[in-house]
Amino acid sequence: MMSHDRLFSRSGGARQGRPQAFFFSGGIVFLSVLALFLLSGARTASGAVRLEAPEVVFPGQPFVVTLIADEPVEKVTVQWNGEAIDLPVEVRQTGAGEARYAAALLGVGLSQKPGRVPLRVDAVVSGAAHSSRRELKVRDKEYPVQRLTVKKRYVDVARADLDRHEKERARVKQALALRTGMRFWDLPLHRPVPGGVSSVFGLRRFFNDQPRKPHSGIDLRGAQGSPIQACAEGVVVLAENHFFAGNSVYIDHGEGVVSMYFHMSRLDVRAGERVKKGQVIGAVGSTGRVTGPHLHFGLSLQGVFVDPMPLFE
Ligand SMILES: [Zn+2]
Repeated sequence: MMSHDRLFSRSGGARQGRPQAFFFSGGIVFLSVLALFLLSGARTASGAVRLEAPEVVFPGQPFVVTLIADEPVEKVTVQWNGEAIDLPVEVRQTGAGEARYAAALLGVGLSQKPGRVPLRVDAVVSGAAHSSRRELKVRDKEYPVQRLTVKKRYVDVARADLDRHEKERARVKQALALRTGMRFWDLPLHRPVPGGVSSVFGLRRFFNDQPRKPHSGIDLRGAQGSPIQACAEGVVVLAENHFFAGNSVYIDHGEGVVSMYFHMSRLDVRAGERVKKGQVIGAVGSTGRVTGPHLHFGLSLQGVFVDPMPLFE
């Protein structure tokens, strides 16, 4: 028996109940991040279940959906962007007793046009199936143009290098297709290097005046050889050299959240290795298609590349 929106009845724009920040380390800062996402609270009359999701989202930007319940929750499934993701449910101790908690980190594709996009959350709460359907408003966001000059071989790519790139792309595709049914990630993300941003996410790029794909991550400043740290706990799925990305590490953080680190001078981890948040995974370098040493940091949410900046502490 489905009772649509009975448990998750909409209750206006104001946030309600316990601050979201309670559940995250560095919570105070994270609360302000969530506020940027224009969260709206929703819960039953009794306050037993609360679903939080933003009302407005932007192309290329991440957002968080959380479900918090006082009652036992067996299963939570989020449907977004044509995909259903099962979320693990955690039991957490609170001042008032126990709370069940599930969270998803979701993204809006860079090419998403403004309009309304459906978000659906299904949950089994105290043995009964419930469903909430919402429509998130996608607003327009402009990304600037960037022109770069790189070595000719990275623009007029030789057949052998293209073949190599295709093989690497297939491996990356597999890594980004992972939907590990655990949540290793937590917010805020740890900044992998302390340096400032030299190239923002989403730049519409021209290499040697030829149009290429938009910038799928951020470039962070860092001296050659300076340490790079994992943005969150996870499992290394790829640690290898790629034609464009140079020495690269991909970390699976569960629920389809994968972080990536490019152009490294050194790899300190291997595929299959479990890493902690903040663990050194290698060093800044200038391998692959670059103009100089820096860290390219990328974040894929269920295969959708997003701007990681709003998720840092
Ligand atoms: Zn980059």
